[in-house]
Amino acid sequence: MLNIALFGPPGAGKGTQSKFLIDEYNLHYISTGDILRKEIAEQSALGLEAQSIIAVGGLVSDEIIVQIIEKTITGNRHAEGFLFDGFPRTYIQAYILEGLMIKLHTKLDCLISLDVTEDVSVQRLLERGKTSGRSDDNETIIRNRLKEYREKTLPVLNFFKDKGIYHKINGVDTIEKVNTQIRKIVNKELSKKLLNIVLFGYPGSGRGSQGKALAKKFNLEYIATGDMLNEEIKKGTAIGNEIKELYENGNLVSDELVVRLIEKKLQESKDVRGYIFKGFPRTLVQSYILDGLMQKHGSSISKIIEIEVPTLELINRLDARSKTENCMPYDTSTSRIIKRLKEHEEKTIPVIEKYNKLHGVIKINGMGSFEEVLDRISKAVEHSFKDIT
Ligand code: AMP
Repeated sequence: MLNIALFGPPGAGKGTQSKFLIDEYNLHYISTGDILRKEIAEQSALGLEAQSIIAVGGLVSDEIIVQIIEKTITGNRHAEGFLFDGFPRTYIQAYILEGLMIKLHTKLDCLISLDVTEDVSVQRLLERGKTSGRSDDNETIIRNRLKEYREKTLPVLNFFKDKGIYHKINGVDTIEKVNTQIRKIVNKELSKKLLNIVLFGYPGSGRGSQGKALAKKFNLEYIATGDMLNEEIKKGTAIGNEIKELYENGNLVSDELVVRLIEKKLQESKDVRGYIFKGFPRTLVQSYILDGLMQKHGSSISKIIEIEVPTLELINRLDARSKTENCMPYDTSTSRIIKRLKEHEEKTIPVIEKYNKLHGVIKINGMGSFEEVLDRISKAVEHSFKDIT
């Protein structure tokens, strides 16, 4: 996730810049001012409460703001990220934002403050008032809004300065120049983030070949627990022999062993852009392990993808593979193949369902040529990568 807050006095250009940023970074836009105006237009209880305060340019109570913010964030928890405009405006709201971000296992990545003088703000808002239809865009109320900003909102910057995510930009420059500066900050922030993809799908859905191709295309480290285990078998290590026996009975390898191998791989890989996980997590327990591993490495899952292929086609594909030199030790007979498909259904499908509720899972049609499927998956991940690769 990428979460940005635009900060600055009324008239600083937050709304204008937001329009560019939401498209460019595929963010969900949250303007508390817009939400409040909508509530007023609908004459909701919340809107009626806020109306008289907005009319005089005061700040609406934190109680009202927390309600609308919580509703909007949790209703859009699958978004790529959020862009906050006009929030947080008080110290309390800064704490509220922090709490809500933690709840979503994410954080605010940068707070960008558009710096303009009060005179510029007044001029711009008076100009906007000619067409905006906003009754609070008149001089007396503008002055009051700026006073509220100076006294209650400006001190909030200290909260973020302490966290090292505060950036100041000269908001008096042209729209294009301000936009370029914001993008520079955001892209730098993005480049620090690891892009982690979890690739799900039944055995035979093409996860392995697609996963490798994606890793190459997007310059990611490919982590396929099955391949790592096979390596051990090939090397004929003690662990390898143990694994071989489990495979031949169609059973899963112990979590402890898998975790050890993944930890080793994560530690060994330096300067990577991110990871693509294939064949892990396979069980609910492993999904908690992955969450923990990601957190330990200061990162999180960016995208979850499931390749969908009808069961008969899966059996066909696995059966065909068993007759080639690519035959895996676990698909040498039909009964073993069926057992693996069942394992996936019983143990891994609940993991996908869990992730779907938490972050949203992108379903990809796995039928068609290799290139067609790769193209579909690439499109799904491209948005997150477009500014980095
Ligand atoms: P804006 O569209 O951001 O200029 O907001 C218009 C008005 O809505 C402000 O002058 C406040 O009265 C109210 N408002 C918007 N966001 C907030 C907030 N985060 N906290 C308190 N009041 C807000």
